[in-house]
Amino acid sequence: MITPAPRLSSLRVGLRCRCPRCGEGRLFRAFLKIDDGCEACGLDFGFADPADGPAFFAMTAVGIVVTTVWGIWAATVHPPIWAQFAVVIPALLVGCLATLQPIKAWLVAEQYVHKAEEGRWASVGAHGKAPDSYKRTGF
Ligand SMILES: [Zn+2]
Repeated sequence: MITPAPRLSSLRVGLRCRCPRCGEGRLFRAFLKIDDGCEACGLDFGFADPADGPAFFAMTAVGIVVTTVWGIWAATVHPPIWAQFAVVIPALLVGCLATLQPIKAWLVAEQYVHKAEEGRWASVGAHGKAPDSYKRTGF
């Protein structure tokens, strides 16, 4: 009898950038390059393709947080424009780069948990066999 792997939190393994099945093996071989498979359990990472999702979530989350803090800071302290550029642009860059890898790992873990795969057509264009009760009329 095969014992199923324990269910791991996709958010937890994602934030640790670990394998979504065992939670031990590294997911990345480079900054954003997903490894071929897990070194601990052998899971093939070929299913992993979060596409532009990590960039979207990183830019959106960091953009909302940084611009909110920037707006409050600018409205209350009235810093000079050079100081705003000197703080906000690096904050956006560092924030996006720091969150991109964990967000990508989290999305890969979600793909694994939900068995996500590329969409396929249920039909290949044929309408299938007509039910037996169907009778063609008019010809
Ligand atoms: Zn693994």
